[in-house]
Amino acid sequence: MAGDCIFCKIIAGEIPGRRAYEDDELVVVHDINPQAPLHVLVLPRKHIEKLTDLTSEDDALIGRMQRVAAQVVEEAGAGDFRTVFNCGEGAGQSVFHIHLHVLAGRGLGWPPG
Ligand code: 5GP
Ligand code: ZN
Repeated sequence: MAGDCIFCKIIAGEIPGRRAYEDDELVVVHDINPQAPLHVLVLPRKHIEKLTDLTSEDDALIGRMQRVAAQVVEEAGAGDFRTVFNCGEGAGQSVFHIHLHVLAGRGLGWPPG
């Protein structure tokens, strides 16, 4: 756990987060500032700052994040959806603990902003 990381604190239960799913590797929380009717964040319990810090050891973890995202949307009956990793400030990353955005419940335009 990184001491000043807000997502590590949510995972540890030190600050509240509305959970949609959790297991021994992942916690899924509803985004505090939702951009769609369903907007959850898939968080690995392991603190990894950016996608560029991943190693081959994390390959299965990233795959599971995508599969759990699909499962959460399906269980919510939210229909078509988008998953997004922002990597770096220029791409909109504001919390430096990797997280997969999952957006559903409205039409999603392409290209994104
Ligand atoms: P990023 O901009 O890094 O891709 O996404 C960070 C996301 O985390 C944003 O969508 C923001 O609304 C969300 N967020 C920031 N702080 C909190 C928090 O304390 N709780 C929850 N549930 N989401 C948060
Ligand atoms: Zn963290």
